[in-house]
Amino acid sequence: MGQLLTSTESLDISISEELEAQGVSRRNFLKFCTAITAAMGLPASMVAKVAETITSPTRTPVIWLHFQECTGCTESLLRATHPTVEELVLDMISLDYSETLCAAAGHQVEKSLNDSATLNDGKYILVVEGSIPVKENGIYCKIADRTALDILNDYGNRAAAVVAIGSCASWGGVQSSSPNPTGATGVHEIITEKPVINLPGCPASPYNLLSTILYYLTLGKLPQLDSKARPKFAYGRLIHEHCERRPHFDAGRFALEFGDDGHREGYCLYKLGCKGPETYNNCSSILYGDVGSGAWPVGTGHPCFGCSEEGVGFTKYIHEQSAVFTDTPPASYAQISGDKAGGITIGGAAVAGAVGGVIVGASAMAAKKMKAEETAPESDA
Ligand code: SF4
Repeated sequence: MGQLLTSTESLDISISEELEAQGVSRRNFLKFCTAITAAMGLPASMVAKVAETITSPTRTPVIWLHFQECTGCTESLLRATHPTVEELVLDMISLDYSETLCAAAGHQVEKSLNDSATLNDGKYILVVEGSIPVKENGIYCKIADRTALDILNDYGNRAAAVVAIGSCASWGGVQSSSPNPTGATGVHEIITEKPVINLPGCPASPYNLLSTILYYLTLGKLPQLDSKARPKFAYGRLIHEHCERRPHFDAGRFALEFGDDGHREGYCLYKLGCKGPETYNNCSSILYGDVGSGAWPVGTGHPCFGCSEEGVGFTKYIHEQSAVFTDTPPASYAQISGDKAGGITIGGAAVAGAVGGVIVGASAMAAKKMKAEETAPESDA
């Protein structure tokens, strides 16, 4: 870590001042930049550039639309920490319109939406939260007397790029479950002439939104996407590949009922319906929510239900056993959670992951190492 600090000493002093004002130490900020740079698949030499992008006074205009959804993705972002991800995101962009966060209302806020789109025509990023109902010409979701379908067509086709945040906007989410009475669908089914990036999850990880926006602002281009338009750096691996319960799966140790001995011992949840083996996301690597111990569903003892995977989440029964795409154990096992992991708890891994750099592909051994660094004396050297 000392090497990192040396390589980024050229950062403008105002960065430190700004972050200190937000209650974030320079050391933790640089650790965060290191983690997020690696998570985006960028080399360590880009850490300083990423840090500069985060603190740049230039703000990219963003319009954030809400359609059929529960606002969980916005709520999740607003409750993120380490270090205050929501502040970093909101400071990097000019959020010109958001129905959740706008202080204004009615005609005044609708005017600001239109003004922003006109002023920044072709330059703004459109973030869409929620599915779009297309049955009956979209009458099932109307805002200011316009259908969601009409609004999306209008502002989506004038944007530089569209980010579909959450499973609803990515592929319809829970509203698209059979019989899908409103014809709920994802953004990419409607906006076909502009780049659409899907960040599925229910809710989506705020770190994946931050990473995607950061990547775009730092490099001026979109990250590499998979066949479902998801950033490969976040959705390139199965949850099962880096799950802390994976050693139990490989050893054939399963919880068979909630509350049984295996469940209490932290055994694999596969036989309780865990969909980790067929769900692509980075929850098991960076965990989720920064809420301390057990900071992701599997960590709390609940099977992953594949919320981010089209055709799995809200489609398969929770108790239904998952397809297993990979049955070869990873080269380096994740450690078992809790005290048996030699001191690193799931919560410790979460904190270390968010602040210290447990990234896609990293194991809990790396988390343990970072945990040790976290407890080292603070230094701004
Ligand atoms: S089946 Fe689920 S609980 Fe078991 S190792 Fe895979 S992701 Fe983890």
